[in-house]
Amino acid sequence: MVAPPYDIEAVRRDFPILEQKVNGQALVYLDSAASSQRPRAVIDAVRRHYETSHANVHRGAHELSVRATEAYEDARACVAAHIGAEDAAEIVFVRGTTEAINLVAGSLGKAHIGPGDEILLTKMEHHSNLVPWQLLAERTGATLRFVDVSPEGRLVLDDYARMLSERTRLVGVTHISNSLGVINPVREIAALAHEAGAFCLVDGAQAAPHLALDMGALGCDFYAFSGHKMCGPTGIGVLWARRAILEEMPPYQGGGEMIASVTLAGSTWAAVPHKFEAGTPNIAGAVGLGAAIRYLNAIGLDAIRRYETELLGYALERLGEIEGLRIYGPTDERVGVLSFTYLDVHAHDLATILDQRGIAIRAGHHCNQPLMEHLGVDATARASLYLYSTFQEVDALCEALHLAGEIFCRSA
Ligand code: PMP
Repeated sequence: MVAPPYDIEAVRRDFPILEQKVNGQALVYLDSAASSQRPRAVIDAVRRHYETSHANVHRGAHELSVRATEAYEDARACVAAHIGAEDAAEIVFVRGTTEAINLVAGSLGKAHIGPGDEILLTKMEHHSNLVPWQLLAERTGATLRFVDVSPEGRLVLDDYARMLSERTRLVGVTHISNSLGVINPVREIAALAHEAGAFCLVDGAQAAPHLALDMGALGCDFYAFSGHKMCGPTGIGVLWARRAILEEMPPYQGGGEMIASVTLAGSTWAAVPHKFEAGTPNIAGAVGLGAAIRYLNAIGLDAIRRYETELLGYALERLGEIEGLRIYGPTDERVGVLSFTYLDVHAHDLATILDQRGIAIRAGHHCNQPLMEHLGVDATARASLYLYSTFQEVDALCEALHLAGEIFCRSA
């Protein structure tokens, strides 16, 4: 069956923010890997929640609290179905990927990791999947080890065979690198981790926006992602973990909502996932995330992926024509997160020149300082594509880069 054409104009109309001008020019938003924009469906769902159904969850005996609780738990069920979780209790709502990983490091780390144990990460991890483990290693005397990144920008898979041992307690890996765009073979990595008796945690911050996910098929133990990179609100994210593992893990934070009973002498814990959701949660955020998932599914993640892949091919070709521009990461098995350096122009100067033309890109180390060091740069410019990005925007980027190159060469 031939897939219907992707209606990019209709998609763009769903995102009110894209209609504006910035610095007198039509906005070209190429910073979705840092945070995506939100469609009207999400903005409306959050507004509707506050206008009609807001109250605290899981405690009130009144109608609004019942409605809010239903909406919150409905969002959990929506996330569970979206990522192929076996049970909605496997979905812990957190602030985002960063908090999800801190939760695992704080809780599982406390219970299962001690002196002499090893945590195997990679050199392409975002600081969110590095610093929490550094903190844990400091506290416990565990050692961190790092799988290498090849010159092409892929993980050196042979390192897993070399570095995994009975000392390895946990393997942490990003599903998609936020600097290289590369999609890592997390299924194979999870299988290798399990053969060695280690847990496997996957940072899905850059994957959840682009890929259809199935936790059963991936085979990892923990998967973390953020709502704001996949058309949802900020301040809401997800930790998925298998129920049996969550049940074994001690609480991460203490407070209201996470207890079964409390006396002055001690407390017992609520069932999962509530054991890990201390305090009043981000109710409207969860509702908005549910709306974002429904929105993405209405278009279809497969259709989005096909469109993004075509657009990525075009962007790689057009950027590849610019002399003095170097793109990092492989040309296949990747998404449209395009980090590059250009002549000797500093990434921040490039971003400033582009901003004057209404083009939003990111510049810096992208919370990937060890990877930048590995690549031998202190910063890159990064243009990232999403479901609402267009071929014309890629053209606008290339034109602005040509201009920046001319300005730089004249002044050099
Ligand atoms: N991991 C990766 C790969 C990311 O790209 C990001 C966001 N830049 C994070 C983790 C952290 O996500 P958040 O700031 O939403 O917690």
